[in-house]
Amino acid sequence: MSERKKFKVTYSTLASPDPLLHQYYDEAVADAKANFGKIYPLFINGEERFAAKTFAKHSPVNLDWVMGHFQYGSEQDVNDAVAAAKAAFPAWSGRPWQERVEIMRKAADLISDRLFEMGANMSLEIGKNRLEALGDVEETADLIRYNCDAVAKNNNFNFQLLSESEKHHNRSVLKPYGVWAVISPFNFPGALAGGPAGAALIAGNTVILKPATDTPLTAWFLTECFRDAGVPAGVFNFITGSGRVVGQTLIDHPDVAGITFTGSYDVGMHIIRTFAQGRYPRPVIAEMGGKNPTIVSKKADLDKAAMGVMRSAFGLQGQKCSACSRVYVHADVKETFMSKLLDLTRQINVGDPTIKENWMGPVANKGAFEDYQKFVADLRAAGEIVHGGETLQIEGLDGYYAAPTIVDHLPLDHYLWKHEMFLPIVTVTDFEELDDAMAMANDVEYGLTAGFFSEDDAEVQWWLDNIEAGVLYVNRASGATTGAWPGYQSFGGWKGSGSTGKAAGSFYYIQQYMHEQSQTIVD
Ligand code: NAP
Ligand code: MG
Repeated sequence: MSERKKFKVTYSTLASPDPLLHQYYDEAVADAKANFGKIYPLFINGEERFAAKTFAKHSPVNLDWVMGHFQYGSEQDVNDAVAAAKAAFPAWSGRPWQERVEIMRKAADLISDRLFEMGANMSLEIGKNRLEALGDVEETADLIRYNCDAVAKNNNFNFQLLSESEKHHNRSVLKPYGVWAVISPFNFPGALAGGPAGAALIAGNTVILKPATDTPLTAWFLTECFRDAGVPAGVFNFITGSGRVVGQTLIDHPDVAGITFTGSYDVGMHIIRTFAQGRYPRPVIAEMGGKNPTIVSKKADLDKAAMGVMRSAFGLQGQKCSACSRVYVHADVKETFMSKLLDLTRQINVGDPTIKENWMGPVANKGAFEDYQKFVADLRAAGEIVHGGETLQIEGLDGYYAAPTIVDHLPLDHYLWKHEMFLPIVTVTDFEELDDAMAMANDVEYGLTAGFFSEDDAEVQWWLDNIEAGVLYVNRASGATTGAWPGYQSFGGWKGSGSTGKAAGSFYYIQQYMHEQSQTIVD
């Protein structure tokens, strides 16, 4: 374990991993399996708490594997956590920002130290392959570091303003809001729980984290990292349980001052609307779904385009908010593009994602598995399935396996051109004029990520000028629409994909966890 702890990965080393990385990960998978079946608590006011009811977390890799038993948090548990967080707020927000940053840097380092343990468990918890899981863990640590740096670089956003005379001393400061709720999704259980929770804590808020019911274990590991780094009692609280009870109680609670939600459009819009019913406006950072398009020009390098689309459509089984789900390809090059995309897709191994050779694992849960079958039936009825379109039996495993699926000739008015499927399914159509492709690409409620392939600079500029999305990629073979890292790509959605217009992992993020105060003092 101590050698494992010293091993560090970065955005670039993950692309060409060291053999030791594989060895440490394999050992950690064995350890994770040896720990199946434990009972995990809630964490409220610095104490572990057990609820009246628990739920079993089954691995989608193999449903026979019960990874742990988690608590069904109640309304009372939420009320107690909010009270604890409210009581802890004055001391935490009153500390010098340097102390908060020091504690949070320590939390980031603990996450990095526990990389393999957390990554192996995450693979089993949600079906992520090893590099994706390790990337998610390390990204969590880097998001926290990024926001520590942002506060440190900007003197915690304490700036001098103009003054009317020598007697006037005018400043602008940013101050935290109070109790902050973080509601996270299943697909990036590290980064999208620890990233927002970390930002809220660094800014001086106190936090209640409610993770997705599918991914309580990664969130528990984060809780341990915050606790072990010295985050004081009540400053960070962890509650598992259903969205309808725990989530809804949080958003209804008058003492919750702000919220970060990452998840589906429907739940996100419901939270925005509910939160607006309070006595006064409160911030909601909502990061929601995507229906991300890629346009392939006739001037594209088709090898790059096919590789980029394959990786973005099927990575993490199509369950990234940034997954490529629609492809518009110029009619002149469509046949060649399709044959390249098919060749690459045929080479994908689907199976136990902890095995090195398997690039795709299972889909997240029963609902997703059933959705896949329903969507495939609808797509088969209206269009042509040119690859996949079937669930898969993997020997020795009872899990939710689905084949990567490519659909052609789907009528352009079909609902699945607009509905986020969140599964390994991509629909492809041709176009004659780039302007028509742009109109189709933009004709959805979402605007999260988008990809373009063309070797022509003028076309690239035209695309950048007209596409409606928050995260853009041009000619990116490693992912047409996916892949972001704090400091390298800012990540946030436009339109129905995000509520704030500001992205994570970039210049304007952590400020959203604070409100501005102008202070004028006259001698
Ligand atoms: P989800 O079903 O919307 O759930 C997200 C979270 O909300 C979960 O913790 C869920 O709890 C909770 N929740 C459900 N109902 C609630 C309610 N009434 N009040 C408060 N909380 C409630 O999303 P998901 O299936 O986990 O994640 C997939 C979605 O997330 C996709 O749409 C994807 O595009 C989006 N996503 C967006 C981004 C981005 O950055 N824009 C990133 C990742 C994912 P339970 O699990 O207990 O139901
Ligand atoms: Mg869900």
